[in-house]
Amino acid sequence: MTDLAGKTGLIVGVANKRSIAWAIAQAASASGARLAVTYQGERLEENVRDLSASLTDPLILPCDVTDDGQIAHVFSEIEREFGGLDFVVHGAAFAPREELAAPFVQTTREGFRLSLDISAYSLIALARGAAPLMEARGGGSILTLTYLGSQRVFQNYNVMGVAKAALEASVRYLAADLGPKGIRVNAISAGPIKTLAASGISGFSSILQHYRDRAPLRRTVETAEVAEAAMFLLSPAGRAVTAEILMVDGGYHATGM
Ligand code: NAD
Repeated sequence: MTDLAGKTGLIVGVANKRSIAWAIAQAASASGARLAVTYQGERLEENVRDLSASLTDPLILPCDVTDDGQIAHVFSEIEREFGGLDFVVHGAAFAPREELAAPFVQTTREGFRLSLDISAYSLIALARGAAPLMEARGGGSILTLTYLGSQRVFQNYNVMGVAKAALEASVRYLAADLGPKGIRVNAISAGPIKTLAASGISGFSSILQHYRDRAPLRRTVETAEVAEAAMFLLSPAGRAVTAEILMVDGGYHATGM
């Protein structure tokens, strides 16, 4: 049921081999999907091209999610190459480093704007671009990545927590909008994983240790485990699931103290 043979997908958010989006790309490719993979700026192009050499006939495209022109170009290329689209994985997030170290009350207007634009609004922009291509296939699945910092306070997660709250609300509104077209919209809320994005959060290793000490499974999660849960949501196995935030965090979210 998690077979993606004959399906096409768009993966946004690969920076390097540690990226959660890369683990999902590998799992989707292994399940038979053909992928378009984007990179943010020339700095990451080589990384993404090198990694994607292991995929079957990938389409590699630039996409800075703050640029509507680049988003439009991604979907016109996908339409030309694939003729339609079955799934989107959205793994883009950003907050300026200073915002993740200073007290939350010091959040700047510009830091707030940028963080919410890249980390939350981009899901709406990608869903709007993907919807007609998914309709052409009779439906589709859109998946984003979030964190429990949307609901609870984690030291230094700061404006990213606010962005994740906006992202999760956007999942529900998009699911309501696009559901009648057969398009599902979900998020995975992953436990903390040491990635490039995570390295921007001051004191991140103490969050990892806290999960090892407190999560019911007494460990942190791996990107491959997030990817397996993603296969459920992207594939026909998840066909009745939408507007859902699936916790893949070793059960940490259920703990009180
Ligand atoms: P990562 O650094 O590998 O991925 C973040 C990606 O965002 C990068 O590929 C980066 O290029 C992209 N990005 C940033 N600004 C962009 C822009 N303007 N345009 C296009 N792309 C842009 O780190 P990751 O941990 O794999 O993050 C992927 C997602 O998972 C993020 O949404 C993150 O918040 C979420 N997440 C991460 C963790 C964790 O602990 N690592 C936990 C839960 C959720």
